[in-house]
Amino acid sequence: MSPNSDPTPWWRGLYFLVIAYLILGFTWWAVLLYNKNRDAFQAKTELLRLRMEADGTYQNEELFQRTAAFLILKNKYRHQVTMIYGESAVFVLTLLVSVMLLNRGYQKEMRAARQRRNFLLSITHELKSPLASIKLVLETMLKRQLPPEQVQYIGKRALRETERLHRLVNDLLLSAKLETAYQPFLEPVNLSLLVPEIVESIREKYPEAGLQLSIQGEITVWQGDRDGLYSVLLNLLENAVKYSDGKPEIEVAVQESNQLVRIEVADQGIGIADREKPRIFDKFYRVGNEDTRKTKGTGLGLFIVRQVLLAHGGRIAVSDNQPKGSVFVIELPNKPGH
Ligand code: ADP
Repeated sequence: MSPNSDPTPWWRGLYFLVIAYLILGFTWWAVLLYNKNRDAFQAKTELLRLRMEADGTYQNEELFQRTAAFLILKNKYRHQVTMIYGESAVFVLTLLVSVMLLNRGYQKEMRAARQRRNFLLSITHELKSPLASIKLVLETMLKRQLPPEQVQYIGKRALRETERLHRLVNDLLLSAKLETAYQPFLEPVNLSLLVPEIVESIREKYPEAGLQLSIQGEITVWQGDRDGLYSVLLNLLENAVKYSDGKPEIEVAVQESNQLVRIEVADQGIGIADREKPRIFDKFYRVGNEDTRKTKGTGLGLFIVRQVLLAHGGRIAVSDNQPKGSVFVIELPNKPGH
């Protein structure tokens, strides 16, 4: 079963059937009570009329309906009708609210279970594959006398895998910290230098990627956590490369207006479906099926991105790029002395 498609167990159907039965059953009882009440009122009225006729006090219907005894009966009847309506409304409302709350709790539980499953599957993969690769490199180096260039080559590969492990551990630690005790370390950051530095590192790592950077106008020095923002931009750019189906084409734009820095990362990649957009920032959430997915990842990247930005009073939004791909837009407040 796909971890991202909601599994619908058989008892979910039964659950809605029971609720429908409860509502129908209750409506039936309410209608029955209403009819019985009306019948009782009519019978009592009839009895009163007969009694008055026997006493000789009944003159005509108009005067009868003005008598104190009839008015008491009528008031009592109206009161009971209001009670039936009121109680029914409260019952149905309570039932609907309980069903809604139960459903919300269920959905939350399912999401948490899916996240746990995604986490276990992706973490296992992300831990196992670099370790296996490093182990293989070390075993090869020990077993065989390799020419120096080959040692260089496989050594670099092992180093890349070590970096991957390092990043994974850092992401895990940072995401745990972001949920509990993250306080951004405020320092002056020159975004006109930081953004090109990150773009350059991506260019080196993925020479095949087409990267365009534009910085419009002067950007005031920003007060914030340099490492945090570095991680934010690196994650967005890595994703832009990772989720491209052909040669990655990425545009990065920075501008500032009204004490707000706007950083845009646009790609021409596979894009994100509208219904996935609100979920991709959840911890461990990954679009698609963990069992068949080709791309590496843990679903932590965008969670870290959003949490770091929120801690700085900033925000992030995602939309569709034209003709295809996604655009992530960051907005960071840049108040002097912030
Ligand atoms: P990871 O990349 O490790 O899976 P992220 O938290 O960085 O985790 O991203 C969550 C999900 O959002 C990804 O699994 C991917 O499906 C989707 N996503 C993120 N960035 C992009 C992008 N630029 N284009 C298309 N999909 C994206």
